[in-house]
Amino acid sequence: MNVETSPFGHSHPWSRPLRTLTRVAVVAICAGVASAESPARLPWTTWSHTRPLSPGVINLIEGASERSLIVTRLMKELEATDLVVYVSDSMPGVNAGPKSNLAFLAREGGLRYVMVRIDFWRLSPPERIAALGHELQHALEIAAAPEVKSAASLAELYRRIGWEGHEGRFESGDAQDTGHRVRAQLDRSGV
Ligand SMILES: [Zn+2]
Repeated sequence: MNVETSPFGHSHPWSRPLRTLTRVAVVAICAGVASAESPARLPWTTWSHTRPLSPGVINLIEGASERSLIVTRLMKELEATDLVVYVSDSMPGVNAGPKSNLAFLAREGGLRYVMVRIDFWRLSPPERIAALGHELQHALEIAAAPEVKSAASLAELYRRIGWEGHEGRFESGDAQDTGHRVRAQLDRSGV
């Protein structure tokens, strides 16, 4: 579960599908920005700043809203920020390493956009909710840092508030802690 500052820039074998998916996401972003400064809530979601990109993620977000007070609080806090989080259920071509990540996408119309990817193939349903909590904590860390306007300034933020594991992959203690707390909460409630 990492903040990826340059997932699209390297010549990994999976860079092409990622670029394709990014184009899809950018089209969706433009459609959202064209109508208003603040993104409208989609009819099939509760939140306007946490935006699912697949039916599976709609179910994940609705399930998290029902089962995790921590994740619900994170999504509620995001509503009051300038950050919009797209959530994908796949990490194409990745079979090792982080099972979720976050990358900076764009700044447009007074809003900043990030992409969270959660690998549904490698995570159980409760682990997906915990991963969502982990990545949404990262999103709030970024929301609280208005100087983050690019992948490069995102890396600068995490050199300050977190640490760099592998090159271009960053982590923070608060995000790790949030994921663990969500998982513990789900275990206690028998989910
Ligand atoms: Zn992380």
